[in-house]
Amino acid sequence: MPFVEYKNSVQHIESLSVLALAEQYPTPFYCYSSAKIRAQYRMFSDAFSHLNTLVCFAVKVNSNQAVLSLLAKEGAGADVVSVGEIKRALAANIPAEKIVFSGVAKTEQEMEFALKQHILCFNIESEPELLALSHVAKRLKITANISFRINPNVNANTHKKISTGKKGDKFGVDIEHAISLYQKAYNLDYINVTGINMHIGSQISDVTPFDLAIQKIKALYCELKVLNININHVDFGGGLAVKYQDDELAEPELLAQYAAVVNRHAEDFNCRILFEPGRFITANAGVLVSQVIYKKNQSDKTLLIVDAAMNDFIRPTLYDAYHKITAATQNHRFECVDVVGPVCETGDYFALDRTMEVVEQGDLIVINSVGAYSAVASNSYNSRPIIAEIMVQGDQVAVIREAQSVDELIARDKVPSWV
Ligand SMILES: *Cc1c(COP(=O)(O)O)cnc(C)c1O
Repeated sequence: MPFVEYKNSVQHIESLSVLALAEQYPTPFYCYSSAKIRAQYRMFSDAFSHLNTLVCFAVKVNSNQAVLSLLAKEGAGADVVSVGEIKRALAANIPAEKIVFSGVAKTEQEMEFALKQHILCFNIESEPELLALSHVAKRLKITANISFRINPNVNANTHKKISTGKKGDKFGVDIEHAISLYQKAYNLDYINVTGINMHIGSQISDVTPFDLAIQKIKALYCELKVLNININHVDFGGGLAVKYQDDELAEPELLAQYAAVVNRHAEDFNCRILFEPGRFITANAGVLVSQVIYKKNQSDKTLLIVDAAMNDFIRPTLYDAYHKITAATQNHRFECVDVVGPVCETGDYFALDRTMEVVEQGDLIVINSVGAYSAVASNSYNSRPIIAEIMVQGDQVAVIREAQSVDELIARDKVPSWV
């Protein structure tokens, strides 16, 4: 069921029209459908309901407390990459025993905090990190549960900036070194080997790399068993793609293919299976609503200059990401435009040479599929304050992050007396 759709030619988020929302809240703003987030989470977890699983939402994707609290109520765990994200997950009532800690550069301070919370697992990415964790754990006399993030050396066939499971990527430990690392970890004080982890990339729309990687994890699992190193869970990471463009595979179909792969291997793992989906849960639950400030006709093209900019939403310029842009009010007349923001950078665009519905100065546009890796990556470049996030549920709406003010931005700066 779509929660972000046209009704009577006006874009709606659940029961509320974007036009009405924009009267209540100044543009630009992010808006999420809570029902869509819930539906995506349930679709994902239901696909594995016959297995012993834990779904750990990748917090970096959308770390708003309202989103995390909603998922906590659904029973989700959290995959975190910093102490800040652990604190966010705990504040949203995600219990520590459902939190896994990923990331290539956990500091000793972060390890100490996570150990004291008794989190489910540290996903270790290098030998020095293992030794640092053992050192901190010993000092605190708290045993650390660990898995190694294995780099299975598969090509995820995705954008180069979001591929993480090929040899040479900075993530994880090479699979050839895995056994010796597990043996080392097994013999360390205050280290409890519990899992095997992988995460091969993001926006992966072909399940073959998952299949290949899981086979490699399975071989490792069996070798460890022979060595009497007991594994309590395997963690297949995140990475499942969402549908950004009309010609892409719909999410239920891709999930079905992915579940078929997991199910084919599941019975060979006599342990719990963890997942770390991010984008899949929230991407298509969010829109960015923006107003056209000027429509500028150049000799060779038409520019829509809108009030949102790359500081609010950086994915098009950072990842060459395609995001569908629609007119808030449907009119079935099309033209080719560049959609750009006000920031003084050539990279400040949302779409180039895009055929979309005709909009005029003052009209609202909707940038779709921005529930993941979007608001979380905003910044205040050009002294543009961080914009608001709102959430809809049926006909209810609430601000879930207030917009910053320019005064707040300025107040953070301090002028030394000697200037
Ligand atoms: C980013 C990330 C995820 C989530 O990836 P998606 O593609 O959004 O599902 C999961 N695990 C780790 C370790 C990550 O870094």
